[in-house]
Amino acid sequence: NINKSVELGNSQSLYILKNVSLEIEAGEFVSIMGPSGSGKSTLIYHLSGMDRISSGNVTFKGIEIGGLAEEELAQIRLNHIGFIFQHMNLLKNLSLIDNVMFPALVSKGANKQAVHQKAKKLLEMTGIDMLANRPINQGSGGQLQRAAICRALINDPDIIFGDEPTGALDSKSSAEVMSILADINQQGTTIVLVTHDAKVAAKTERVLFMIDGHVVAEKQLGKYDPQHDDIKTREESIMKW
Ligand code: ATP
Ligand code: MG
Repeated sequence: NINKSVELGNSQSLYILKNVSLEIEAGEFVSIMGPSGSGKSTLIYHLSGMDRISSGNVTFKGIEIGGLAEEELAQIRLNHIGFIFQHMNLLKNLSLIDNVMFPALVSKGANKQAVHQKAKKLLEMTGIDMLANRPINQGSGGQLQRAAICRALINDPDIIFGDEPTGALDSKSSAEVMSILADINQQGTTIVLVTHDAKVAAKTERVLFMIDGHVVAEKQLGKYDPQHDDIKTREESIMKW
C-alpha cells in the first residue's frame, strides 16, 4: 500500500504512486514497464529506500524500512541494496576503479586493499579491467554502464535496482549488460529493472506494468534460459500484452 504524493502548494497534492502493493521474492529477476511519467522510477526509489514514502510501507528482509531513522536506513542501503542509476552518476574526478570502490570505502574501518582486489575482480568479470585506472570520461557508454553495475555490486547486495540501465546503450552493449545481470541473478542476487525495451523485459522472469501511479498488470514469463527459450516469442508475448 505505498502512496507517494508531492505538495503542489495552494494545499493541493499530486499523487505519483497510488496504493501500490507488490511482493518480490529473493532471487527473482523482475522488470517494470509503463509509459513515461507512470511512476516507475519513483517506485524503485521507494522500494530501495532512497526516497521516503508518504504512506504505506516497504518490508525488506522482515524489516519495515519506512519507519527507520535515516542512519539505520543508510546502513541497510549501503550493505544490502545496489542501485544502478539511469545516468550512471559516476564521479568525474575519480578513476573508474575508484568509482567502483567508493561505496565500500564509506564504512569506517574498510580494508582498502581487500576492496581494491574485489573491485578488480568485478572489473574483470564485466570486461573493463583495462580501464581501471583511467578517468571515466575515457569509457564508452556501455563500459561506464558496466562500471555502474560493478559499483552496485561492490558491497555484495541482496538486491539490485536498475533505472533503465540499458536505456542509453546500443543493442549490442544492451545485450552484454543484460547477460552480466543474468549471471549476477543466477548467483542469487535479486534484480529489479525499469525498462522501456520489450527485448530487455523478455530476459527477465516477471514483468510489472505501471500506468498513472498504479501497477495495473503483471506477466509471469519464468526464468529466461537462452539454451531453451526463444527470446523472440517472449518479446512478442510482451508486445501483444
Ligand atoms: P520515465 O519513463 O519518463 O522515466 P517514470 O515512469 O520513471 O517516467 P517518474 O519519474 O516516476 O516516472 O515520475 C512519475 C510522475 O511523478 C511524473 O509525472 C513526474 O513528473 C512526477 N514527479 C516525480 N517526482 C516528482 C517530484 N519530486 N515533484 C513533483 N512531481 C514529481
Ligand atoms: Mg524514470
